Amino acid sequence: MSQAVVGGLKSAGPIPERRPPPGERARPRPVSASAGLGALPLPVWRCKVCGYLCARDGPPEVCPICKAKKDRFERFI
Ligand SMILES: [Zn+2]
Repeated sequence: MSQAVVGGLKSAGPIPERRPPPGERARPRPVSASAGLGALPLPVWRCKVCGYLCARDGPPEVCPICKAKKDRFERFI
């Protein structure tokens, strides 16, 4: 008196694919050309105490490496 009831594992029909439209793909951005030294329009300042280099309009007030004042900086480029 045992009747095995097999449960139905029916697939519910075709599953619709959900892909984004090809126009909405994220494009990789071109890398800006500010990575290379030499292309900088700013002068480069060098700390005469520790040799720290930075490219900016003027020397920093205090060297972030050795804490020398800006009068210890010289124009490098
Ligand atoms: Zn320094």
